[in-house]
Amino acid sequence: MVVVSMALGAPGPVSAVRRANLSRRRCGPRVMMCAMAYSVPDLPYPYDALEPHISEEIMRIHHDKHHQAYVDKANGALAGTEWEGMPPEEILTRLDDLPEDLRDAVRDNVGGHYNHSLFWPAMKPEGGGQPGGKLLAAIKDTFGNFKVFKDTLRAAAMSQFGSGWAWLVDDGTRVFIVTTSNQDNPISDGLAPLVGIDVWEHAYYLQYENRRADYVEAWLNVVDWEAAQDLYAAAPRPDISDVLARSVSIAGTEKRFGDITLDDARTQSAELKALAGWGPMAKVGSIARGWSDLASTLDKHGAATVADLHAGIVVASAKELWVIPPGRSMV
Ligand code: MN
Repeated sequence: MVVVSMALGAPGPVSAVRRANLSRRRCGPRVMMCAMAYSVPDLPYPYDALEPHISEEIMRIHHDKHHQAYVDKANGALAGTEWEGMPPEEILTRLDDLPEDLRDAVRDNVGGHYNHSLFWPAMKPEGGGQPGGKLLAAIKDTFGNFKVFKDTLRAAAMSQFGSGWAWLVDDGTRVFIVTTSNQDNPISDGLAPLVGIDVWEHAYYLQYENRRADYVEAWLNVVDWEAAQDLYAAAPRPDISDVLARSVSIAGTEKRFGDITLDDARTQSAELKALAGWGPMAKVGSIARGWSDLASTLDKHGAATVADLHAGIVVASAKELWVIPPGRSMV
């Protein structure tokens, strides 16, 4: 996997959290689904629904032949093993646990099945445009604006050498773009895929020949951002309830950090600024600025309280404001 863009630094420790969450979803003896082989899900629209952007011919071959082949090979590889029928998102996060002679087949074919199962519902007729709500806010946090994000996604799709995918992913604290080779999925690296573009030649050659850039533009006209918003809303989040529950004093009144509003942040900033001139209070000035930054962030995101903000922003603010006390080395 290649991280194409991640304006806000390296992924946090959340991948371990996500791994634990996923592996908790085990197949019990009463969950009969687990013993069933994989199958190709129906398209959520007719084969010709994405015309003229993606042709009916491509959709028929891509869905009925290519996806079916991944399903058949995945079922063949896993038949009779303890891994048979295990949900793809679980097996793909446990590649290291697989016997070596199964690993490549799983990566390619369970990966192929999972990737394409994400791909079909990530498109729709009359798609395109841009997402709204919290996903748009998260995209702006990372990329500044939607145009920069779209340009980066295009560049990622073009940069993947040979077969693979470009993805918008979420690590639990922020969104960013990665590419994967072959049928690898970002979930194997602890990241939640929100939307991915298939840049295998089989996805476009019949209609666009070698013009991958034209295909990427066409795909941007059918991508279903609402589906990505739903995946974003459902993506695992690190547990920050402890941070949200911490007590802070706003003008002498104790409040939970998660309940802090825009007005609270402004009030606290003003109070601390009044104290900031004192020599013994040298640190107060920077904390006052932290409160005024938090006020701007709440305002920019249209968030009623701190609890409505993205986890990564909540934790960063809590550190800046010493709601999470600095380590001893920092004092
Ligand atoms: Mn494909």
